[in-house]
Amino acid sequence: MKKTVPFTKLFIQRVIKKYQTPFHIYDEKAIRDNAQKLLGIFSWNEGFKEYFAVKALPNPYILKLLKEEGFGVDCSSLPELILAERVGFRGEKIMFTSNDTPSEEYQKAKALGAIINLDDISHIQYLEKHAGLPELLCFRYNPGKLRAGNAIIGKPEEAKYGLTRDQLFAAYILAKQKGVRRFGLHTMVASNELNPQYFIDTAVMLFDLVIEISREVGIRFEFINLGGGIGIPYRPEQKVVDIRFISRGIKKAYKEKIVKNGFDPLRLYMENGRMITGPHGYLVSQVLHKKDTYKEYIGLDSCMANLMRPGMYGAYHHITVMGKERAPRSHTYDVTGSLCENNDKFAIDRKLPQIGVGDIFIIHDTGAHGHAMGFNYNGKLRSAELLFNNGAVRQIRRAETIDDYFATLDFSHLPRRGI
Ligand SMILES: *Cc1c(COP(=O)(O)O)cnc(C)c1O
Repeated sequence: MKKTVPFTKLFIQRVIKKYQTPFHIYDEKAIRDNAQKLLGIFSWNEGFKEYFAVKALPNPYILKLLKEEGFGVDCSSLPELILAERVGFRGEKIMFTSNDTPSEEYQKAKALGAIINLDDISHIQYLEKHAGLPELLCFRYNPGKLRAGNAIIGKPEEAKYGLTRDQLFAAYILAKQKGVRRFGLHTMVASNELNPQYFIDTAVMLFDLVIEISREVGIRFEFINLGGGIGIPYRPEQKVVDIRFISRGIKKAYKEKIVKNGFDPLRLYMENGRMITGPHGYLVSQVLHKKDTYKEYIGLDSCMANLMRPGMYGAYHHITVMGKERAPRSHTYDVTGSLCENNDKFAIDRKLPQIGVGDIFIIHDTGAHGHAMGFNYNGKLRSAELLFNNGAVRQIRRAETIDDYFATLDFSHLPRRGI
């Protein structure tokens, strides 16, 4: 997929004048179009819902616009639940998919009427004790050796998430005995997966389980939740995942398995984060220094604290140098930040045009798991987030200040120094 930037150099120069680099900037219209497209493609399934994974881009402006498009939210912590509540999400528009969950989080999820998705069989009792059992429960299935995983989540049998197959049957039996009346089934076995067939196979796996569990336990499922994990083409040579292909494949299996066996209607849910906002965010940064030692380095005014995926997973993020889009990629550079860690590199041995100090770097695909994964190690401050639409830009999160960084520290035991 060809990597382009949805704004001109002049436009971004004007934005930089008002808001210092670095910042993440998100394309509102592209996010809305993307959201509508997904809902349209799955509209054959009555009640289809996408619960946006809040952790990918936890910003109230983004959640509000996704709410307007008809999305729900997938939360996994107390602050994410509170954020969803503040934006106006309630009840079954909230999916609570957590693990190793503290009691206050279950209490909040229950109070909001969220769909609670349990990660372990022992959490039935834990939930009952601390919040009381809701009438609707969902369980997260971990297929173990029955499915291959991928680099981000790892092999299912080594992943900490979910219940084994045997535990799953036991869990629904126990929940039913305890008076739970409504049921869902969830799985999430891959992340950033680009093979569309993988998601069809996941749906088929869940359809088969729905049939088996329904018959054996004597319950009816209202929905299956396929999780998130649809990948995006970070590299120019990769292709966009064909959602229509996934939808067609799932529809076919739905007819053959669910309808034919009398288990319809069964709603399909998803909880994608990355594919919704990922491609529509950009980290904007400027070149601070050039350095030639054993390699040629470009030092940016951003660092791994603004985008940790390259350092953490060795992930590729495409780079466009504004105004040099058509220049020959004649140089090989490591593109670095200022953190005192040698994995603080946005790119290693990247072919780029000849770079000068002050050049504007656009790092692509930072709309999910970008700003959200930021941290303060080494005294680094998290950047601002901007949203643009129709040429207008608004700041949707300010940059952190040094006062923010010091806010949790106690200086009161030290002698006062006058300034
Ligand atoms: C992270 C996560 C998601 C979203 O994953 P993406 O790769 O952003 O689609 C969805 N569900 C759960 C349970 C997750 O942990």
